[in-house]
Amino acid sequence: MHHPDFAPLKLFITGPTYIRDEVKQAALLPEFGHRDAENIKRFAPIIANLKALAGLPDDTDYQVLIYNGSGSMAMESSIRSLVAMDDVVLNVSVGAFGDLYHKMAVVNGKKAQQLRFEPGRAMDMTVLEQRLRETSPQVVTITHNETSTGVTNDITAACGLIRAHGALPLVDGVSIFGGAPSEISEARPTMYCTSTQKSLGLPAGFGIAFIGPDAVAKAEKVEFRGHSSDILGQLGRASKAQTLTTPNCTLANQMFVQLDHIVHREGVQNRFDRHIRMRNRVHGWVDALDGFELFAQSGHRSPALTAVRCPQGMTPKDLKALKETMRSKGYLFDPGYGKLNDALAAEGQAAVFRIGHMGDITPEMLETYLHDLQHALLGR
Ligand SMILES: *Cc1c(COP(=O)(O)O)cnc(C)c1O
Repeated sequence: MHHPDFAPLKLFITGPTYIRDEVKQAALLPEFGHRDAENIKRFAPIIANLKALAGLPDDTDYQVLIYNGSGSMAMESSIRSLVAMDDVVLNVSVGAFGDLYHKMAVVNGKKAQQLRFEPGRAMDMTVLEQRLRETSPQVVTITHNETSTGVTNDITAACGLIRAHGALPLVDGVSIFGGAPSEISEARPTMYCTSTQKSLGLPAGFGIAFIGPDAVAKAEKVEFRGHSSDILGQLGRASKAQTLTTPNCTLANQMFVQLDHIVHREGVQNRFDRHIRMRNRVHGWVDALDGFELFAQSGHRSPALTAVRCPQGMTPKDLKALKETMRSKGYLFDPGYGKLNDALAAEGQAAVFRIGHMGDITPEMLETYLHDLQHALLGR
């Protein structure tokens, strides 16, 4: 379908992402009643496939929640349901989305402390351990994949450390879930949050959470969990494969089709391998470009997106101009995370742009994009 005013851009940003035609077509499946027998036909397979994609066994003690909203809704719900008013929550941040989790704790009136690492660096476990010893928090939030910098954290190591200090780990897995192993089985977080519009290759509209067995006992002791942010209320409905509030039925139909594709046609391991191949290809492309370098710390580079440091002298303004050049070639280019580039510019450092290679982007699409981007970069 076309509209004369809407440009059919290929999205290489870090979410929302490119949507396959089959997923677009799935929006035409019949609408349904969310308290009717038709509901479970969509949501039972959706939940089973989310567990398979998360690497959880059929008899897992994790429960899956689907919220109307987005990844933020799941994250805010984790704060409201699992952090008591007299708890201390330590929010560990390696960038803008770690800062967002901290903000959610602050604006919900929780006693929040923050541990921040330099942009481009991953969490340092020695520093984290020191801080856990000093602060003795009841709850700790961490980011699996920091979308502003392209850094992936070792959440299995971090969750182990957090548990060893008697705290509950909450994980923001928004941009990576569906593109790499969730590590939920190994890391055993109290709650793991994600959303539809990043590595799952769906439109935005649902927050998704994996709720660990220790979350229920904790939530029972937390007051004022809200209504739609209450994991206990949500779990009540989820036990019947229903959502607490009226779901976006169009997105549910699309999610049914997309998760079936991922688990039963593409294959989970093939999907993860494809993300690694695309990441490696982008790394090779950056290495061959004079003056450009990878921004994220070696060993912690994301399979879902790559942040690229420009040569000295290239400014956020240049990247915005590049974005318009790429638009004229039919792409939506990502000129970097605004606040990060402002902070880098203030320190006299070169700007960073990002390449989203998540979800259903194929190596062939990426190849064409890199070719066109290289021309636009060198011709500037
Ligand atoms: C996009 C993103 C969010 C916010 O998710 P929404 O779905 O936009 O609410 C949170 N954390 C990370 C790491 C993200 O990439």
